[in-house]
Amino acid sequence: MSNEVKSRNGAFKVPDWLFEFHGHKCPYSVVGYRMGVVALRELGVERCYDHDLFVFSEMGVGHPQGCMQDGIQASTSATFGKGQMHKVYFGKVAATFYHPEKGAVRILFTNEFMDKLGTHEFFKFRKQGIEPSQVPAEAAQGVINMVLNATEEELFKIKRVPDFKFEPVPSSFNKAKCSVCGEYVFERYLRVKDGKLVCLQCSGHRDDEQTIYLPI
Ligand SMILES: [Zn+2]
Ligand SMILES: [Zn+2]
Repeated sequence: MSNEVKSRNGAFKVPDWLFEFHGHKCPYSVVGYRMGVVALRELGVERCYDHDLFVFSEMGVGHPQGCMQDGIQASTSATFGKGQMHKVYFGKVAATFYHPEKGAVRILFTNEFMDKLGTHEFFKFRKQGIEPSQVPAEAAQGVINMVLNATEEELFKIKRVPDFKFEPVPSSFNKAKCSVCGEYVFERYLRVKDGKLVCLQCSGHRDDEQTIYLPI
């Protein structure tokens, strides 16, 4: 991992596929990538090949720093798709990384560096409503270089969370066909209506209704 991310002049380096995966070049995807690398090292684990590393991102909605989460997924493979990435909606540029055998570490992007980054012209374009892919390439590369050239101490506050507890939802292959639409539904999401198993949509489930998890 360390060979992959260090350039010869000592600055951090990220793979090009990070931006291909993320869709555009932006600083917070790089912040997230670096945050993930720090988390793996602090916990003493390799990237998440299967299901053993969980990320609790404190990102919310409606602020552009959410790009950080794609960076975290790229460097740790603790992906949303595998169920390893969770959002807790605190609206902070921070995440807690948890491994059942190694414990948890919270990493916060520092206020100081967020202020420093915010003065770059990249954000002048962004505040005018210009999307990252439309920002002039030099401006995007310039702000990314700020993140690549920063030290870990400038970027992050790292803190162990000794009492962090998390019980992953047990995984199950059990499924049944909905008696109304005929589509397969995994058992956690099956409901009973008029004595028959149905999917959430056919049960009349509303989005504001709480999902009750059935014992397995
Ligand atoms: Zn982005
Ligand atoms: Zn159905």
